Amino acid sequence: MTILILGGTAEARQLAAALVADGVDVISSLAGRVRTPNLPAGRVRVGGFGGAGGLADYLRRGHAFAVVDATHPFAPKITKNVVQAASMTGTPLVRLERPGWREHPRANTWTWVPDAAAARAAAERAFRPFLTTGRQSLPDFAAWADRDVLVRLVDPPAATLPRRWNVILSRGPYSYDGERTILTEHAIDVVLTKDSGGTHTVAKLDAAGDLGLSVVIIARPEPAPVPLLRTVAEATAWCLETSATLPRRADRARDPLTSSSLGD
Ligand code: NAP
Repeated sequence: MTILILGGTAEARQLAAALVADGVDVISSLAGRVRTPNLPAGRVRVGGFGGAGGLADYLRRGHAFAVVDATHPFAPKITKNVVQAASMTGTPLVRLERPGWREHPRANTWTWVPDAAAARAAAERAFRPFLTTGRQSLPDFAAWADRDVLVRLVDPPAATLPRRWNVILSRGPYSYDGERTILTEHAIDVVLTKDSGGTHTVAKLDAAGDLGLSVVIIARPEPAPVPLLRTVAEATAWCLETSATLPRRADRARDPLTSSSLGD
């Protein structure tokens, strides 16, 4: 009995590790966006399913009997797809999503916006913005070729960026001291980010607050209409309980893209 974890997050990796340690068969699914992903424990498949229909076919073929959607809070397509696919196939599904930063002590001092275009509009007067809203949002900031933008990304940008922009390639977690140094050395006046939540990337917000900088933050999309779990421990318990209560369904097929076929 295999549980499918839709991953790409630290929580997804922690869940896979916990389930493997408990002897549960898991397969983690990654989109394949990152060049050198942190691979989770257990089996791994990489690449899209081909929309909700493709994911439903994957489930119908018996690759997994239950799904944990542990994708990033700002990955709306895969979350929408798995809700549809689970509904089409009657597959148990829960969402594992870390709490956002709405409860952060300084949250009411930040400017909350619905999307990247609104973030740019809200920070239009910034001279030296620090952009940590992700690679896919960069086109929304193209009009800022006229200023010194500091961009932080995991992988290099797909397209050439404006001449005045500087790129930091790195992957969290980030420390308070390191973030404070970046903000000071680059003379940042506005930090732009999205409500990823968690502790790995919150230090920039703490440092920005202490330095008196403005923060513009993109709010999370509407939650998916499925049971929401906030911690890896809750998701682990759900998987164990679901494994124990559902009738045994043998995996009828194997996904060709298992970890043994991964180049990295
Ligand atoms: P997205 O816009 O919701 O997804 C776009 C397409 O990528 C989906 O329709 C699906 O293709 C495929 N896909 C996404 N996640 C997948 C997964 N875990 N396994 C298999 N296919 C997946 O997502 P995104 O913003 O491109 O993010 C891609 C992945 O990066 C997510 O898994 C997410 O957890 C991770 N991530 C995203 C962010 C972010 O800020 N967006 C940050 C950190 C990590 P098909 O329709 O062909 O199935």
